[in-house]
Amino acid sequence: MIIIPTDPRNEGAVRDSIMNSSSSFRELQLYGRKVILAESTENADLTVLKQRAIVVESGLFSRETKSSDTWVDVDNIRVGSGKLIIAAGPCAVESETQMLQIAEEVKKRGADILRGGAFKPRTSPYTFQGLGAEGIRILRKARDMTGMPVVSEIMDQKDYPIFSGNIDLLQVGSRNSQNFSLLKFLSGVREPILLKNGMATSVEEWTGSAEYILSGGNQNLILCFRGMRNIEGATRFSMDTGVISVMREQTHLPLCADPSHPAGHRNHVEALALSAVASGAGMLEIEVHNDPDRALSDSAQQLTVEQFDHLVKNARKIWDVVSKGNN
Ligand code: PEP
Ligand code: MN
Repeated sequence: MIIIPTDPRNEGAVRDSIMNSSSSFRELQLYGRKVILAESTENADLTVLKQRAIVVESGLFSRETKSSDTWVDVDNIRVGSGKLIIAAGPCAVESETQMLQIAEEVKKRGADILRGGAFKPRTSPYTFQGLGAEGIRILRKARDMTGMPVVSEIMDQKDYPIFSGNIDLLQVGSRNSQNFSLLKFLSGVREPILLKNGMATSVEEWTGSAEYILSGGNQNLILCFRGMRNIEGATRFSMDTGVISVMREQTHLPLCADPSHPAGHRNHVEALALSAVASGAGMLEIEVHNDPDRALSDSAQQLTVEQFDHLVKNARKIWDVVSKGNN
């Protein structure tokens, strides 16, 4: 149970009342306020508690905990604070030449953040697994060259020392969205986290994963919708942008959308990107390659730089319409 004292002067009384219920609890500071997380408050006097505190039913991710939008700082790029943020780059870092070339191209065309996978969660162990630590070194070089912060997927806590200080935004991919030991570990790091939904998880399960990060005290969390497993098969996954609209209502956290993986083919990425922005996603993560047909992973869905250029222009137009409509 989540308990937020309404006033610092109430904290002692609220703590006493939880202690009387003999529930184990811990406290943390989140968004400038004291939050008490109690395991169970079955015996607590809820009427007393509710006079002095907000008892949150849904979660730390929800607007019940914080009504105003949260923005997350990714090395001075503010995600969720009025500007549409675009992260772009290849599915995987394949070589230094490839990465540096794509980094320059996407920067020229308006990307704010650079993406690139170094540790790749591939379906088959017989396919390209990423360059690992060498990939992180290359991303760091691209970061230094372009000045753009970098997002990259972390699959295992043991790799954290390689990421730390080099990668600005740690991505938790769809396949690890419910890897609770990884989530618990990331709840204690200082870097912001980009948490994707699991491809077959419900919104409730996804926000449950978000709770693991927030409840450990890492308040710098961005949620990224990357579509869900579908039975149709025309696209790789289904990007039900209604989910983004529902989430916009439910959560104060910044919302990102990845239209590349659900589209599965480059010709459909822009359509999904624009509908995601129209539905309230304030950040996009897009796969772009300098030679997509020869890419070592997700070849069909990676955009050419020209397609990326087109997408960025239109996405910013849609964002203007949507954000002005909210003011
Ligand atoms: C990725 O962004 O490279 C990726 C593997 O995405 P997802 O986890 O959404 O499949
Ligand atoms: Mn990919």
